[in-house]
Amino acid sequence: MALEEINLIWLEGQDCAGCAISVKQASNPTLIDVVTGAIPGLGGLKLVFHPTFMFEWGDDAAKVLVDAMEGKYDPFVLIVEGAIPDEARAKPGVYCVIGEYEHNVLMLDEVIDRLSEKCAAAVAVGTCAAYGGIPSGKPNPTGSKGLLDYLGKGWKGGLGLPVICIPGCPPRPDNIVQVLGHAVLAARGVAPLPELDKLHRPVYMYGNTVHENCSICGFYTGGVAAHGFGEKGCLGLVGCKGLITNCNAPSMWMDGHGGCMQTGSPCIGCADPNFPDQPTSPFFADAPPIAYLTNFLHGLGGHMKFALAAAKRRKI
Ligand code: SF4
Ligand code: SF4
Repeated sequence: MALEEINLIWLEGQDCAGCAISVKQASNPTLIDVVTGAIPGLGGLKLVFHPTFMFEWGDDAAKVLVDAMEGKYDPFVLIVEGAIPDEARAKPGVYCVIGEYEHNVLMLDEVIDRLSEKCAAAVAVGTCAAYGGIPSGKPNPTGSKGLLDYLGKGWKGGLGLPVICIPGCPPRPDNIVQVLGHAVLAARGVAPLPELDKLHRPVYMYGNTVHENCSICGFYTGGVAAHGFGEKGCLGLVGCKGLITNCNAPSMWMDGHGGCMQTGSPCIGCADPNFPDQPTSPFFADAPPIAYLTNFLHGLGGHMKFALAAAKRRKI
């Protein structure tokens, strides 16, 4: 049976296109698997607008957005990469133009306003799109914010779904593709959307801290600390923010390989909603002491629980 066609419209606002580069690395499934319909239930997807990947340019590209605002590409999932500035501050100037059609500029905020009225679902890819990220870092000269704040936590798309956030700067490639896949399956009524937390992140991806997911956490437990880059040991004393950041990237980036700690880099908290402001910055300053204390108490409780359980099993 032919699946109903669902269009994907990917906008780039105040961004560096890093999330677009990241999604190309996805391996489980790959972007090609998704757009060619190799994954059951995901056929019929069409990436109709993407400023970095599409073939069209100039008026031909901008016309897709103009037509989408008129409803020609319904049903579609709106994907936003990059933050959204407060254009009211820029008057009489402008902060974020994303195209020009027949000599009329297309402003990011106006396009989002129109498309968010029609989209089946909206996905914020990357920390900038989710919570403001680097463009909204202090002193935030353009008043930029993420899609969640821009549309509001109570906003719902045509399918009754709220904004779905995939933070990270950039996010892990598979996180992006898997969430898009979920959004499309939900749009078709084939599968429910995964549970989201209060920051609208899928719990199964962002439900644990980097520290809990860390591949070198054994060094922390054993008290072995690196005091400089390239040294063996936990990276906590070279600025790791893994104790205060929720992210599933540390032990694998793509295809089961890579990840920040695997490459010797401390976590800079790029998936945190406060990034790049405190407490994720300065990037190479220690995480707040309270995070270590909380983790110590948490660990103490965990160790005691295991010790008691082991003692009890011995008696049996
Ligand atoms: S502090 Fe950072 S490097 Fe150390 S164990 Fe935790 S997440 Fe891993
Ligand atoms: S582990 Fe930290 S620095 Fe690495 S992607 Fe996740 S939040 Fe960003």
